[in-house]
This record gives sequence, C-alpha cells and structure tokens, in this order.
Amino acid sequence: MEVDYIIVGFGIAGMSMAFQLEKEGKSVFIVDGNETKASIVAAGLYNPVILKRFTLAWDAEKQMQYAENFYDELSQYLGVQTTKSLSVFRKFNNPQEQNKWFSRTDNPQLKKYLAPTLTNSLSLGITSEFKFGEVKLTGKVLISDIFNAYKKLLEKSNRFLNEEFDFDQLDVSNSAVNYNGVKSKNIIFCEGYKMLQNPYFNELPLVGNKGSYLIVESQELDLQVAVKSYYFIIPLGANKYKFGATYGHRFKENHDVLAKKELVERLNDLINVPYTILDFIVGVRPTVVDRRPLLGQHKQFKQMYVMNGMGTRGVLLAPTASFHQKELLLHNNDLPAEMDIKRFG
Ligand SMILES: Cc1cc2nc3c(=O)[nH]c(=O)nc-3n(C[C@H](O)[C@H](O)[C@H](O)COP(=O)(O)OP(=O)(O)OC[C@H]3O[C@@H](n4cnc5c(N)ncnc54)[C@H](O)[C@@H]3O)c2cc1C
Repeated sequence: MEVDYIIVGFGIAGMSMAFQLEKEGKSVFIVDGNETKASIVAAGLYNPVILKRFTLAWDAEKQMQYAENFYDELSQYLGVQTTKSLSVFRKFNNPQEQNKWFSRTDNPQLKKYLAPTLTNSLSLGITSEFKFGEVKLTGKVLISDIFNAYKKLLEKSNRFLNEEFDFDQLDVSNSAVNYNGVKSKNIIFCEGYKMLQNPYFNELPLVGNKGSYLIVESQELDLQVAVKSYYFIIPLGANKYKFGATYGHRFKENHDVLAKKELVERLNDLINVPYTILDFIVGVRPTVVDRRPLLGQHKQFKQMYVMNGMGTRGVLLAPTASFHQKELLLHNNDLPAEMDIKRFG
C-alpha cells in the first residue's frame, strides 16, 4: 500500500494530525498500539481559564476560536457529535479568592469568560460559604466517540493498524519511508509520553506526568455542571462522576496508592452525600519543560516528524498545533518558534 503519511499514535495529537491531512486530500495510515491513551483517560474539558490564578491559559483565545471550527468540521466529517457544552464553576474557599475573581471580571481579555455575579448553590451535595463563580463558553470534547468513529472509517479502507510500532521494521531512505509493506513519503510520530522510547526523538525534553481520576456514582449528588475546588468533579451522566485529576510529580513513588488516597480525602471534603467508588483510572500527560508543544522535523532524517507535548490541555491545543504542523508538511511554512523542536537545538 502507498499513502502520503504514516502516523504513529492515535490519541488527540495523531487524530488531529490525520484530520488536518485528510481535509487537504492527503491519505494517511495509522499505527496505534493498545497502551492506554491519555486522551481517553482525560475528561476532555475545554476551559481557557487557569482556575488557580484566574488568568487565561497560553494562547487560549486563539486556540478556542480555532478549535470550535475544527471540531465542527470533524463532526460533519465523521457524522458524530464531537463537543458538548458543559458549564464549569470555581468553588471559592475564602473572600480573597472572591475578590480576585471580581477584579479579573474587569480584565478585557477575561471578562467574556468570567461571570460577574456569583452563584449560591449548584447541588444540595456541594455547598460553599463563599459561593461559586462561573466560567463561560466551556465544554467537553467527546473524545471516545470521535476515536471510535474515526477508527471505524480508517479500518474500512485498511488504514488503521492496531499494533505496537516496531522500529526494526522501519526502513527510511532519502525519499521514502517503508513500514511493514506500507510506503509513504513521511512518517509523523504522535506517541504521547511513549515518545521517550522512540530512538529518533527521545532526546527531546518530554516528561510523563501521571494523572488519575476516581469514577464515582451518587444518586443524591444531582450535579449537572463541572465544579473545580481542589480537583474537578465532572458529571458523566446516569449519576456517575469523574473526580480529579491528580498531578504525578506530587506523589513520586507509589503514585497510584497515594493519589487514590488523596482523591478520596478531597472528595469527602467536597461533597456531603453518599457515593460509591466504581473505578480509579490513570493516564500519563506528555508535558514539556517550557509547557509548549513539540512540533517539527528530525534534524537528520527529513522524512520524520514529531507532534507531541500536548501537556494538560490537549483538546484545545491539538487542533492549532496540528494546523501548524500541516502547514509545515504541505507548504513548508515555518512553525511558530515557541512550538518548534528547533528551540532545543
Ligand atoms: C488524568 C488526565 C486528565 C486530563 N484532562 C484533560 C482535560 O480535561 N482536557 C484537556 O484538554 N486535556 C486533558 N488532559 C491532557 C490530555 O489528555 C493530553 O494532552 C493528550 O491526551 C495527549 O494526547 P496525545 O495524543 O499526545 O497522547 P495519547 O493520548 O497518550 O496518545 C498516544 C497514542 O500513541 C500510541 N502509541 C505510543 N507509542 C506507540 C508505539 N510505539 N506504537 C503504537 N502506538 C503507540 C498510544 O497507544 C496512544 O494511543 C488530561 C490528561 C490526563 C492524564
């Protein structure tokens, strides 16, 4: 088989890359293993505001605008719903947080996102002496539905290979890439944190940051919105909720046991109704020291590209990042310097 691009990894990075290329009439072949994707563990929330400091995340305004159109087009292409609006509220722990919020609602960049009036109550199961502030224009990307639909479409034309990529089978010459009988001009690695095992790109400064959620069920909570206190509680429907996510660097060894213990303690602080724990799920965020993506071309093997470093905000970042990578691949346009792997030499 001959295709334009082989893509290794089909998380939010590989999926966005595939769609950008297919939109331009290019053919793709995906190799994706059975490792848990960070993208599937993730809640898929999009929210431009950092809820610790009440500031806008890096480039959030532009990424929000681009992502909206991207997910609409993807919805038409796949014939499935790709996003769902979901209100996000910040629970205030003291008057200082409230005051900071009020001062930010006057900020020209933030005022469209931060509601100026506070909310008293969201559910009988969560109370707050200092009320809640609503972040507007937030929602959720329906990642599992997107992957299932896209994978089915690719499988129909035998362009999805569900296996671990075997570097011994990769044959790279000056003008072509061959992998297990598939020939293409270029190969793009979108492996999430497993890039650290990729012999061609493992020198890039990627750090795997474990994150975990509790999945709980509560008949009494009756919460229809996402609430951020120390962690997020996010409704999944049918009285089920995700609660988290932890940050791995805080626990070091014994992550899973310590993270789960902390989640239970924090959940008990937040809600005052009974619940049952159904599951505890863990994923690894591909983060970079400077918190910017890793895009670009291999220094020596010009047919090889990388798209990684989606960090903690993959659903907003991947559409924009894949756009820039596509511009490089198809039109040889420069990447934004802050995303280009050339910044690491
Ligand atoms: C607990 C948690 C909560 C999160 N919540 C959010 C959130 O609410 N909103 C948000 O925007 N972001 C969130 N994130 C971050 C987000 O999940 C990541 O930014 C994003 O998923 C990274 O996507 P990726 O495609 O780079 O990696 P992944 O999703 O990990 O995908 C990589 C894929 O590559 C495959 N692969 C790797 N190596 C190979 C190989 N050698 N052969 C074959 N296949 C291979 C893997 O099997 C996998 O399918 C969260 C992350 C975690 C862990």
